Amino acid sequence: MVQEQLMNRGIKDPRVLQAMGNVPRDLFVESALADRAYDDEPLPIGDKQTISQPYMVGLMTEALELRGGEKVLEIGSGSGYQTAVLAELCLNVFCVEKIRSLAAQARAVLDKLKYYNVAIHVGDGTLGWSDHAPFDAILIAAGSPSLPEPLVGQLSLGGKLVIPLGSEKSQILKRYRRTPSGLEEDNLGDCRFVKLLGRYGWPA
Ligand code: SAH
Repeated sequence: MVQEQLMNRGIKDPRVLQAMGNVPRDLFVESALADRAYDDEPLPIGDKQTISQPYMVGLMTEALELRGGEKVLEIGSGSGYQTAVLAELCLNVFCVEKIRSLAAQARAVLDKLKYYNVAIHVGDGTLGWSDHAPFDAILIAAGSPSLPEPLVGQLSLGGKLVIPLGSEKSQILKRYRRTPSGLEEDNLGDCRFVKLLGRYGWPA
C-alpha cells in the first residue's frame, strides 16, 4: 500500500509514509472486510459512512506538514483510521464525530492500539471544538459546500486546514493557510467524500 498507492503517486513526506506503514488499517474495518482493508478504495464502515481511501488519507495528512508538536482538530473521525495516522504525527488530536456509534467504535480501536493522545467528542464538527482552540492544523474528512466559518476562527496563525469543497457529488480538496493578511488557498485535486452534515455544512 505504501509503495504502490502512496509513493508511486507522489506522497513523499517520510513521516507520513512511516505512520501509514505503522497503523494497522485492517483493525479499523469490520472483520468481514479485513482482507480488503489495504485495497485502493474507500470501504463501508456502517451508518452509510466510509473509511477514506489510503491515498486520500496520505494526501490530506501530508498537506498539513506536521512536525510533531502540533495540536490538531479532525472533523469526521469515522473509523478512526485517519485519526490514528494523525496521532502518530502530532502531539494531540481532538476529533469531533457526529455519529455516536462510530465514535465509540473508533475509541475502542484507538485505545487498543494505545493512541492515548486522542480525544473524541460527539457533536456537530462544523462548530469546531472551541474549548481546545486554536489548532495548528484542521482536517475535515467530509465534503462541504463552503468553508465552515467557526473552523477558520479556530485555526492558529500559520496553521493549515484541509477540506473537500464542492457539490454533493464531487469536490476539490483545498488547503488553506492562515497568514497575517488572511487565508492562502491551494487546490490539491479532485475528490469525493460523504457529506459534512451540520450547521455550517449541508443541511441535515
Ligand atoms: N477519515 C474517516 C472518514 C470518515 S467519513 C475514516 O477514514 O474512517 C466522514 C465522517 O464524517 C463520517 O463518520 C460522518 O459521520 C462524519 N460527519 C459528517 N458530518 C459531520 C459533522 N458535522 N460533524 C462531525 N462529523 C461529521
